[in-house]
Amino acid sequence: MSKLKYCQGTSCHQYTTKDRLKGNGENKTFQTRRRSSFYYGKGNFCSLNCQNDWWEIHGDNAIDHFGRITEAKHLTEENAWVKDYDWRTDDDSQRYFYLNKITNERRILTEAQYRDNNYTLNERI
Ligand SMILES: [Zn+2]
Repeated sequence: MSKLKYCQGTSCHQYTTKDRLKGNGENKTFQTRRRSSFYYGKGNFCSLNCQNDWWEIHGDNAIDHFGRITEAKHLTEENAWVKDYDWRTDDDSQRYFYLNKITNERRILTEAQYRDNNYTLNERI
């Protein structure tokens, strides 16, 4: 059984839907939604509204904290590799590959390399 967690929306409790009305008798209040999982914002928000409410208040601080982009990034041969697969091929050894979006070069991957999120041909920048 998964643990319940609260929506991180800063105004979740202000949306007066029936499912947010909790408590007994005259002590009922509209409360932040609590679920085992949420669909929005990597599982942190019950709705796009709640995600947007959070972003409106904290977005600038979050970008400044984790690093604001202050100049253009460039797609070059060295960082243009994307993983892809061909579900139509009959040859399993050719199914997974890296494709360079600049040169169109293909390099065959094993399925394990394809699924490994740490495996990359791109230079870390
Ligand atoms: Zn919410």
